Amino acid sequence: MQIVWFKHDLRLRDHEPLFTATKNGISILLYIIEPELWRQPDLSFRHYDYLVRSLCALDVELKKKGHKLSIKVGDAVKILGDLSRKHNVKRIYSYKETWNSWTRKRDIRVKDWVNNAGLKWIEFQHNGVVRNLSNRNGWSNLWYSEMRKPIALIPATFDTIRVKSQEIPSPDSLGLNHDGINEFQKAGSFEANQLLESFMSHRGRLYTYAMSSPLTARSACSRLSPHFSFGSFSIRQVFQTIDNRNKSLSYLSDQDRRGWTKSFRSFQSRLRWHCHFIQKLEDEHSIEFESLHPDLVGLREDSLNLEFLERWKLGLTGYPMIDACMRSLVQTGWINFRMRAMLVSFASYHLWLHWRPISIYLANLFLDYEPGIHYSQVQMQSGTTGINAIRIYNPIKQSLEHDPEGVFIRRWVPELRDMKKEEIHEPWKTPDKMNGYPVPIVDEKSARKNAASKIFLLRKKTGFYENSKKIFDKHGSRKKLLKRPKKNKASFISSQKQFSFEN
Ligand SMILES: Cc1cc2nc3c(=O)[nH]c(=O)nc-3n(C[C@H](O)[C@H](O)[C@H](O)COP(=O)(O)OP(=O)(O)OC[C@H]3O[C@@H](n4cnc5c(N)ncnc54)[C@H](O)[C@@H]3O)c2cc1C
Repeated sequence: MQIVWFKHDLRLRDHEPLFTATKNGISILLYIIEPELWRQPDLSFRHYDYLVRSLCALDVELKKKGHKLSIKVGDAVKILGDLSRKHNVKRIYSYKETWNSWTRKRDIRVKDWVNNAGLKWIEFQHNGVVRNLSNRNGWSNLWYSEMRKPIALIPATFDTIRVKSQEIPSPDSLGLNHDGINEFQKAGSFEANQLLESFMSHRGRLYTYAMSSPLTARSACSRLSPHFSFGSFSIRQVFQTIDNRNKSLSYLSDQDRRGWTKSFRSFQSRLRWHCHFIQKLEDEHSIEFESLHPDLVGLREDSLNLEFLERWKLGLTGYPMIDACMRSLVQTGWINFRMRAMLVSFASYHLWLHWRPISIYLANLFLDYEPGIHYSQVQMQSGTTGINAIRIYNPIKQSLEHDPEGVFIRRWVPELRDMKKEEIHEPWKTPDKMNGYPVPIVDEKSARKNAASKIFLLRKKTGFYENSKKIFDKHGSRKKLLKRPKKNKASFISSQKQFSFEN
């Protein structure tokens, strides 16, 4: 008897723990809702709602095959212990989970219990994230070979026993307040397949051109991120499906084929980034709480302006593109990469807010919250990694470039609905038409300059480069270094604007 413990891998296809278990005995298919996890500050109502919908979708798939998902509520060690005693369980199968600090500590407790109880816990590598990696050399090759392994297909029939499920707790009982919003993406593997299909057949044609504007990205990006976060798709499945589609494009004109191939290659690189960023958290758990670069610890710790934080959260900064993006994110749970980066850049440079409260608020909003990507990205965009180029996004420039007609802004900032496209990017210049919309929270140019000078001053500090080098050796992607000449310390210090390591 064995348990297959589902975590952030709510699917049947390409599920190695399940695949292996089906060959080795009778299984209990288990998901544990852990109330304490749901009380952590990075989790929110919308995540729980999406989880419940994903569990229902998985159960429907299982039912079609004559099986049932057993849902238990409580502490994992207790539940695994009770089930093991009652059903004489010998082995537990799951993926290695690289998630938040709470799940990491829970896994340490489970490991202790498994060892004491004399059971076996067989954990499988999740996507391309390697546990106990000694360094990043060759990681990319490892990732590609992982992606090219055969898909794990479960047999048509296998043996399970049905263990009675407990009632799914209401969000209220877990302390999760309904945010009153019901516009989120659909859950489950069926929906994930539909999304991938529409991305490969038409939505993704102009992926690389359309991904930067919040107007076009919503449809041109795959929108698979919540499915990866909850595991209704494996990264390998998607990588291989895209590869196969790319090979079957010979019927297209040269121009169309080249266009699609460009989209697919760019998309596949992002699948690699997905694992690259989670690998950082796997290798250094403190990324969730502490600035990566030791010389940048303390940078903003003492200066949290609560009014600035609140206005940023509410989408009331007086910069239309920032506010439109924030309001759209609150309402839909998704915004494209560039606008995520701009929101963090504005909060951490212009408003000089520490990345930690920013990251928690955004984690709550992103339906696709994935700690490994999230904390690495928030730190990168707020300049605390020390190995990435400093990018301070100018919200007016972003607005002019990515929403020149003001369509996106008018949709999300109705106060400005009546402004002309020439006015809408800088509404404070037409004060009689502002309709209650606030004046800018800070002066864009001086706030940007101020932040840049503080950061670059620190980067000049003795020992900064050496610490950055250590961070790069541990976490930096080696991919681009193969193509670009390495810069040395002297070129870093003289340029000051860019850092020598690419990420
Ligand atoms: C501050 C900040 C926080 C972020 N937090 C998250 C997060 O919590 N969860 C999350 O999944 N993504 C996060 N991202 C990365 C990225 O914005 C999203 O993955 C992407 O917007 C999801 O939309 P999509 O699935 O349509 O992406 P697509 O463009 O279709 O890309 C396909 C997949 O590739 C991966 N991917 C794409 N871009 C990146 C990237 N820059 N880094 C790592 N992986 C990437 C994702 O898994 C994505 O689903 C964050 C980015 C920033 C700047």
